[in-house]
Amino acid sequence: MSLSRRDFLRYGVAAASTAVASGGIDLSPVEAAATSLRIKEAKAFPGVCPYCAVGCAQLIYVKDGKIVDIEGDPDAPHTEGALCPKGSSTYQLSLNERRITGCLYRAPGATAWEEKPLDWMMAEIAQRVKKSRDATFVETVKVGANEVPVNRCEGIAWLGSSVLDNEENYLIAKLSRGLGLVNVENSARLCHSATVPALGATFGRGAMTTNLIDVQHADVIMPTSNWAECHPVSYKWVMKAKERGAKIIHVDPRFTRTSATADIWVPIRSGTNIVFFGGLIRYAIESKKYFHDYVVAYTNAPLLLDPNLKTPAELDGLFSGFDPARRSYDQSTWKFQLDADGYPRKDTTLRDPNCVFQRLRRHYSRYTPEMVERVCGIPKELFLKVADIYCSASGPDKTATASYALQLNQSTNGVQQIRALCMLQLILGNVGRPGGGVVALRGHSNVQGATDFGTLYHMLPGYPAEPLQGPHPTLTDYLEKTTPKGGYWVNNPKFVVSLLKAWWGPAATKENDYAYDYLPKREKADAYSHQHFLVGMYEKKVKGFICMGQNPAVDSPNAKMARQAMRNLEWMVVVDLFETDTAAVWKEPGVDPKSSQVEVFFISGTPAAEKDGSITNTMRMAQWHVKAVEPPGDARSDAAFIVDVGNRVKELYKDSKPKKDRPVLDLVWDYQPQGPKKEPNMELVLKECNGYATDDIVDKDDKPLYKKGEPLKTFGHLRDDGSTACGNWIYTGIYPEEGKNLALRREKSKEGDYLGHGWGFVWPANRRIIYNRASADPSGKPWSEKKKLIWWDAEAKRWVGNDVPDFSPTMAPDAPRAKDGPFKGISGTDAFIMNPHGLGQFFASIVDGPFPEHYEPFESPTKNLLSKVQNNPVAKVYNIGDLNKLGTPDKYPYILTTYRLTEHHAAGMSRHVPWLSELFFGHFAEIGPEMAKELGFQNGDMITVETPRAKIRVRALVTERIKPFVINGKKVYQVGIPWHWGYQGVMKSARGDITNDLVASLGDPTTFIQESKALLCNVRKEA
Ligand code: SF4
Repeated sequence: MSLSRRDFLRYGVAAASTAVASGGIDLSPVEAAATSLRIKEAKAFPGVCPYCAVGCAQLIYVKDGKIVDIEGDPDAPHTEGALCPKGSSTYQLSLNERRITGCLYRAPGATAWEEKPLDWMMAEIAQRVKKSRDATFVETVKVGANEVPVNRCEGIAWLGSSVLDNEENYLIAKLSRGLGLVNVENSARLCHSATVPALGATFGRGAMTTNLIDVQHADVIMPTSNWAECHPVSYKWVMKAKERGAKIIHVDPRFTRTSATADIWVPIRSGTNIVFFGGLIRYAIESKKYFHDYVVAYTNAPLLLDPNLKTPAELDGLFSGFDPARRSYDQSTWKFQLDADGYPRKDTTLRDPNCVFQRLRRHYSRYTPEMVERVCGIPKELFLKVADIYCSASGPDKTATASYALQLNQSTNGVQQIRALCMLQLILGNVGRPGGGVVALRGHSNVQGATDFGTLYHMLPGYPAEPLQGPHPTLTDYLEKTTPKGGYWVNNPKFVVSLLKAWWGPAATKENDYAYDYLPKREKADAYSHQHFLVGMYEKKVKGFICMGQNPAVDSPNAKMARQAMRNLEWMVVVDLFETDTAAVWKEPGVDPKSSQVEVFFISGTPAAEKDGSITNTMRMAQWHVKAVEPPGDARSDAAFIVDVGNRVKELYKDSKPKKDRPVLDLVWDYQPQGPKKEPNMELVLKECNGYATDDIVDKDDKPLYKKGEPLKTFGHLRDDGSTACGNWIYTGIYPEEGKNLALRREKSKEGDYLGHGWGFVWPANRRIIYNRASADPSGKPWSEKKKLIWWDAEAKRWVGNDVPDFSPTMAPDAPRAKDGPFKGISGTDAFIMNPHGLGQFFASIVDGPFPEHYEPFESPTKNLLSKVQNNPVAKVYNIGDLNKLGTPDKYPYILTTYRLTEHHAAGMSRHVPWLSELFFGHFAEIGPEMAKELGFQNGDMITVETPRAKIRVRALVTERIKPFVINGKKVYQVGIPWHWGYQGVMKSARGDITNDLVASLGDPTTFIQESKALLCNVRKEA
């Protein structure tokens, strides 16, 4: 038996040599080559790249307890061994002279750090947590005539992170809620928070619908982000599709490397995507290129709407129910006409003037090619060419994939911009089918997982809502108001009760509503987000802050205000690898350290290579990485920090009698910390997330199903009677048996299984393409041989095919609507099982409207040409006076858009990595030659870019890649600025002014994500 280089890389020479000793493997061909390799004699451990959410699988080579090399894992079906520059440099995250391996303490007003022992730091941190909790805790509030338990602490904010593992985010979600914290967030708020309600309201789940590998089967691909540079390794699937003849249409304000690979580049003014997608929806309808049979069977297009609903076409920019005083909508007219069974009436001919299809048609009738040209700056002929190509990729034989990232998210219309893209895919029948779908390209490695695990103020792990004090005072109220009457979310009580059992164990009983009172209750929906709590810190209402693996000094909108907000805190804990800009905020250049009294505790964290845990990539795939080496010095996993804080705070409260402390004391918190650094057992955390039986359980025929303590195999076995505990129902099945961790599974794709079901675990239930019932026609046959995925096997009486069916496995295509049970309300053709009517939703109640409508960004070079309503009338504008002044085109004539680069990452991890930092000469702004000529500067000149909030100094990069737009007949220049830089960094080129200082404090009304892609600025040459 011979050993290939691939095998050699995978197992390392040490392992292979053992195999030789035991007989049979001929190593000689590769050993000769290996003498020059660093990995000779090394042992390989499974790793995952910690940068972006492509989730490239790695092999970490260790020799003598030290990492000697990190390579891509060649067997990974989604990445095939590739790594981009960031992934290739992860070695320098572990082995880096700038890494802080001890504990640093900055006393209030001090001018320097002091080194302190880890134990002292942890004891002090636990005391600060208790002190601020006790000082700001609200136990009950009066709601109407009732005194409602709210168990809420508003004085501490905890920022988790989408670079932490799933299990770590779960621990934060659990401990923070146990303490009563409501200011709980992770970086997903600032990058992809609009994704969840947009995809969720349209399809039922707020996550990418497809799988990166499947992109190769698309006939047309429309990236609306810089996919090739921001998610480089996954772009291979786009190129593979292109090799097969697919057309690539790149929609982006800037010409990038993605544009360079595309057949067509569509320059679009930032913030106008709804007009573009609305124009395509109109084109699909008017040219009859939509997928009629799919739309009739699988979407709510035929359902009849209340005739009292009025849309912006009738109310000049508003939907019915707008209250200008409250700046919100009364949604009472946003509803369906119901039949005697309470189900929406429908017209499958799609002709009724009140059916969703006709209302959609009228709504987008204003989004003509001419309007697209005037608003977006896309020439009409180009738009029509693109519309014809894209909308032709529809029907039984064809599909198109569309992708997006932050250009759609970061907007005061963020949710609706993504909704519009989802609706375009729905009308073309491109969801749930091979080569179709919506590719949500997440930035940080674990944005998906951090979101799934509930380190976001508005939801709990697995997506049940965080309760509100008004509508949800009791468990009964909460379940009644958050559980729909049909669709798979009817199982919500099982998810919620099982979560409460996982958190409060024996203290959660039927008699006390499973300790529902312990859960903190939000005062209102408009509170506690990242931007909200920064304002709270600025106003000194938030006293303490725990910041893990994130750098809000740089990545926050209005970042200058954010840094002052942190300097206003009483105390702050930073857990990170390096001294980030946030850790050093008290000594920011130009700031007198003595002016800030914030007490800062810096705890040394670990990169993925030094701890066990799972990361969920952008396609919902959890991959486990194994601790390859011991962390140096006092560094320890983030999980160890969280578990230690929990244990110490519990100890401080141990003799406490007040009721308010029961949620802390009763919190189940036994993760068996081991060794000098008290590292918890991460498989125990994973098992809790997966779920287990709290008692012996029998099935409906009284046959034993589980013994007490056994892990659950499927979320179908969850109960709402307290006999199951489950930290995150969507991950049930990841740990189906004791010792069996499916996130750690690394099986090469088998013949015929192109989706690689043996690699990692994809939620839910290892389904790689969700809503895949829609890949078959209503009768259960594939729409076409070319696009088949799953189908109904009439003989076997079940759904079969190339993926795990996202449907009741034995529900026949002609099955009537289920009257009860886990699939209540779902019939044999209802492909979108999570939605209340089992249908993809064109019409859906989002706070700023049931259909996406265009409004201009708050800083815009033009008036809104579609209506008299200039900006999203219900968007959030933070009230912080002059710190949030907005610019007008007379003073700030240039469009400014922000973006990121391949070689740097987010707010600064890469700025501490020499291999990456040396790849750039420093901070810069891209400017077109015409504009540069007009303003009198040249490539390389230092320039000042200014908004009403701040000015930054950068070097001008004069390039043809940046073109002006013609908006409503007038030429407007744009400027593009990447946002990675800050005052900390390994070399001069890694340090620079902070782009996010330029950004205003504005928010989408559903998620409060900021508007950082479409601003106005002024530019001048430095004297
Ligand atoms: S940064 Fe993203 S694309 Fe690059 S190696 Fe890491 S996971 Fe892969």
